[in-house]
Amino acid sequence: MLTPNLSYANLKDSYLFYHIAQKTGAWLNEHPGARLYRMGIGDVSLPLAPAVIAALHAAADDQSVKERFHGYMPECGAPFLRETIAGYYGKRNVSLSPDEVFVSSGASDELGDLLDLFDRSNRALIIEPAYPAYVDANIMAGREIVHLPSGPDNHFLPLPRPGIEADLIYLCSPNNPTGAVFNREQLAAWVSWANARGAVILFDAAYEAFIEEDLPHSIFEIPGAETCAIEICSLSKTAGFTGTRLGYTVIPKALERGGLSLNAMWVRNRTTKTNGISYILQRAGAAVFTDEGQKQIHANIRIYKENARVLMAALDEAGIRYWGGKNAPYIWMECPGGMGSWEFFDRLLNEIQVVGTPGEGFGACGEGFFRFSTFGDPADTREAASRLTALLRKI
Ligand code: PLP
Repeated sequence: MLTPNLSYANLKDSYLFYHIAQKTGAWLNEHPGARLYRMGIGDVSLPLAPAVIAALHAAADDQSVKERFHGYMPECGAPFLRETIAGYYGKRNVSLSPDEVFVSSGASDELGDLLDLFDRSNRALIIEPAYPAYVDANIMAGREIVHLPSGPDNHFLPLPRPGIEADLIYLCSPNNPTGAVFNREQLAAWVSWANARGAVILFDAAYEAFIEEDLPHSIFEIPGAETCAIEICSLSKTAGFTGTRLGYTVIPKALERGGLSLNAMWVRNRTTKTNGISYILQRAGAAVFTDEGQKQIHANIRIYKENARVLMAALDEAGIRYWGGKNAPYIWMECPGGMGSWEFFDRLLNEIQVVGTPGEGFGACGEGFFRFSTFGDPADTREAASRLTALLRKI
């Protein structure tokens, strides 16, 4: 008889956003026709940039003409896009060869699939609060997880310290959910820790485009990272591709473990397990990196940043401590009056119809904190902020 992957039994029964959807759904059932202000899930609200739309149309037309038609695409990515992305890193003085860049269908898919490269016996270090998929993907893979809590004392940016033992480590900077960003010295500490132990850093740079201060956008800005890090990136939040799906992963050729090149292993993996990403989407992705595309996506990012400013002003007025918002599309606030994070969720839902994300869903140390996404509609965000101000005055 077949034995299923019994590790699935170790997963918590409901995923954070599913649980939020159930609670908001139940509330809407009891209040038919009522309006909710959704500041919870990190999905974008602005449409794709005109340069991207033009590229999608042109690529669809290519597919209609025999001479320009594309069938299967190279499994690791189209050369034109791999070169374009290597050029994007080059602007930040990170020198990559195009075959160190792998085009993907998004960061989530990669974060799960990349675990194929590592033996089950490796321990995964996850800094919490964390994007829940890091934990769940490792539980599914049957891997031991080392939880490293962070908090206000270290500004949610913990550093390696004696006693921390792990083989794989997740760094997410700018961070979801806290919005915290590691500086160069802090990342250098993790790089030297990983190199000294032969560990591998999985660096999630999904929010790099939101950095506005002088902070590293890529782990490969740190000397030594090429022998210990893989970087996972996505156009989802950068360019509104959440429903379009495109990302990229950088695996340096210098990264070897156990005498094997992780870059070569990933080529072997992709050529076995995928048949490449759609030609049309890769053309759309390349348009993001043109001068016009960059101008347009940054205009959208500025709109999200204005949402952040409005929400931060509401918290400032109430004297509430928060992190993020400046270099990240998330604001991570302390719940008022020592309230629990699901209790604060319920009060926001029931009293002002604002939906956010309880910090506890990102790990036990997130209890007592709450996340707002700044990806919402600007008018909704302004309304939510003014309702929040009124509620916080009462609490
Ligand atoms: N990594 C982080 C930290 C995220 O917050 C998200 C999405 O919210 C992802 C990865 C997934 O991105 P994608 O849409 O490319 O799968």
